[in-house]
Amino acid sequence: MVLRFKEIKKGHVNIYSCGPTVYNFAHIGNFRANIFADLIRRYIKYKGYKLTHVMNITDVDDKTIRDSKKENLSLKEFTEKYTKYFFDDLKTLNIEKVEVYPRATDHIKEMVKLVKKLLEKGYAYKADDAIYYDIKKFKDYGKLSHLNISGLKAGARVCQDEYDKEHVNDFALWKFWDKEDGDVFWETELGKGRPGWHIECSAMSMKYLGDTFDIHTGGVDLIFPHHENEIAQSEASTGKPFVNYWLHNEHLLVDNKKMSKSLGNFYTLRDLLKKGYSPRSIRYVLIATHYRQKLNFTFESLKAAENSIKRLDEFMVKLKDIKSEKNNKEIYVLIEKAKSDFEDAMDDDLNVSIALSVMFDFMKKTNTFIMNEQISKKNAEKAIALMHDFDSVFGILKKEELKEEISKEIKQLIEKRQKARKNNNYELADKIRDQLKEKGIILKDTKDGVRLEKVSTSK
Ligand code: AMP
Ligand code: ZN
Repeated sequence: MVLRFKEIKKGHVNIYSCGPTVYNFAHIGNFRANIFADLIRRYIKYKGYKLTHVMNITDVDDKTIRDSKKENLSLKEFTEKYTKYFFDDLKTLNIEKVEVYPRATDHIKEMVKLVKKLLEKGYAYKADDAIYYDIKKFKDYGKLSHLNISGLKAGARVCQDEYDKEHVNDFALWKFWDKEDGDVFWETELGKGRPGWHIECSAMSMKYLGDTFDIHTGGVDLIFPHHENEIAQSEASTGKPFVNYWLHNEHLLVDNKKMSKSLGNFYTLRDLLKKGYSPRSIRYVLIATHYRQKLNFTFESLKAAENSIKRLDEFMVKLKDIKSEKNNKEIYVLIEKAKSDFEDAMDDDLNVSIALSVMFDFMKKTNTFIMNEQISKKNAEKAIALMHDFDSVFGILKKEELKEEISKEIKQLIEKRQKARKNNNYELADKIRDQLKEKGIILKDTKDGVRLEKVSTSK
């Protein structure tokens, strides 16, 4: 099967991923969802598309209010603390930054506007404790999760953000203040209160990505009711389709049960790092299984991942040590084949397990060439470049490997600039200086030559 993905705006993909509720440390089950979103993002870039990727931060809901009180912190102090931990963990797991991380509390205005529109159009109604979405009014309710709601009793409603998945209910769009909320409220045209959880994703996704966008991701637990509700809110308000492709990752399990905070069967990233596992092996375990398959977490799989990573590291070191001048054309055939097999696998609904096996097979065959001294320095450079191409998607190779590539590029730019200066082409020299600045490098011309003022390879 070939990728049949078709973007709305040529060459540009818009993605929205449901992000964390920042009330605690995220567990590695949550990070399975983040790493899956990262995989899609990286592969879209690999295919040459530009992208705008948005991931919300839920910094107001029942849980954040409840637990901020327990910790005796203001909602803001409390959620900022866990947002920071979340971003630190993303960095540790080599998850790329997305373009926009909107916080719910910064978008109350947009949410109020959306609720007002739903009221005007007759999809919402006011009750004592909240403004509710009337799911009976939206004829497509249930289309994502294939629910049949025709036989259900009307009027059942729930105010809490998360509820029992066995029941289909009207859900709260705007919750009127009650004393449990303490000082968390907004005085708005809808009344004093705070938004429901579902409305935040509709309001923020459409603000940054438009009424209809390409891809929406999240864990399978969000299909119903969260994503069903997002569709109901957005499509009722705009009259247009909301999302073209829904991609849901299956769960990370422990002993065949979903890893979750409520069951208490979870590991945070920090728990595993303390036990001595490397971030790369954790990432490897979370990325290696196809997203539509359940993944049972075990320490054996983490140990196996450590081993695979070690083999990759050794392979890269060996490739860099090759000095021979004798080219072997067979390597190029191998590279072409590996590249096209990798793309076939990823185009087939992001079949990452096959894509990884293509990389390991390439390593195995190239190792045989290395052992038999049938590979030249030039061949090895091509093999390294291919590994870096793969890794732009997997993100599991040692960082230094990539840094070296950057520094090579930088060296070339500096040389080019020196030449331009020698030829009195100051315009070009200045252009290159700006280019380097964008990469975090500032050049100082001294009488002894150029000096690098600041080198940052974080870009
Ligand atoms: P939460 O912070 O619980 O709202 O979840 C954030 C994201 O993590 C959502 O996309 C969930 O679907 C996802 N998620 C939660 N638990 C798991 C799990 N055990 N495996 C995979 N994804 C999960
Ligand atoms: Zn969401």
